[in-house]
Amino acid sequence: MSWPLQQLLHRNHRLRHVLRAAPVMAMLIAAQALAPAQALAQEKVRPQVFTCEPEWAALVLELMPQAQVFWATTALQDPHHIEARPALIAQMRKADLVVCTGAGIEEGWLPALQQRAANPKVQDGALGMFYAAQTVTLIDPRAATLNPFAGDIHPGGNPHLHADPQRLATVARALVQRLQQLWPAQAPELAQRHADFDRRWASRMASWRDRARPLQGQTVAAQHSTFAYWWRWLGMQQTMDLEPKPGLPPTPSHLQSLLQGWKLQPPVAVVVAAHQDPRAGRWLVDHAQPRRPLVVMPATVVEPSRPHALEHWFDEMIDALLKAASASPTSPAPPAKG
Ligand SMILES: [Zn+2]
Repeated sequence: MSWPLQQLLHRNHRLRHVLRAAPVMAMLIAAQALAPAQALAQEKVRPQVFTCEPEWAALVLELMPQAQVFWATTALQDPHHIEARPALIAQMRKADLVVCTGAGIEEGWLPALQQRAANPKVQDGALGMFYAAQTVTLIDPRAATLNPFAGDIHPGGNPHLHADPQRLATVARALVQRLQQLWPAQAPELAQRHADFDRRWASRMASWRDRARPLQGQTVAAQHSTFAYWWRWLGMQQTMDLEPKPGLPPTPSHLQSLLQGWKLQPPVAVVVAAHQDPRAGRWLVDHAQPRRPLVVMPATVVEPSRPHALEHWFDEMIDALLKAASASPTSPAPPAKG
């Protein structure tokens, strides 16, 4: 190697080294300058957000990616039945904001967490406590019952509203307003992020409607009212519930009774949520004629920190249903009477 070339490479190497080090140096200097105000700045820039379900974690991260978001449940857990364990209490204690569904879905554990965490910022009525169900109308309200054996849960309406893309957009609008109230310094950035999300979401909804056209008018058997909003949005009808009564687990006699209706109007598939015991659904597809597939779908996003997690969840649900529909030659359901 000739000397000038060697020198050039050496100089280039040094130059690269300096260039690479420059941003690090600048960050170190900036960090030193900001050190006294660091605690305050951290609080402003990285809010601690506790979410009850992963869908709200995904939504918060869409609107405020710098937030430190914790989700209390996963797609493999039933959000109706969670233990108020110490790790959850500790997370709620340090939260600046709690985002939950409400409408009774967390009534077995959330009040206990709020009480034990004793964090005034996230008690009911405080700005830091956000219930998604309070921002939309709910479907299927039932007459409240005092009979503990009736299995009649969700008297205020179906709380599984996140499976409705339209309502999700409404929740996002209300949530961004709450975030702006809590962190006014971030308001313009939040508005921008929400506008981006809203625009993208509208175009996703249009493409989902388009793709899901073959599902319109089809019937489905499912367990619980977990996907009730989703069926409605798709124009599908849940004609069978594996639960004998809302909130009660499937029983052999109830499953047996479903076989009759199945013959008259076979659903396109049996759908159970990933957190539900699949055995009842499995039994049904093994015993019913004509044969239909069992589809196991997560009832929420699986990995909330994945970019556009909510979109992926809806994409995958449509994929799974279209696949089932193409395997099940059904005629569309007759129009509902009355
Ligand atoms: Zn439920």
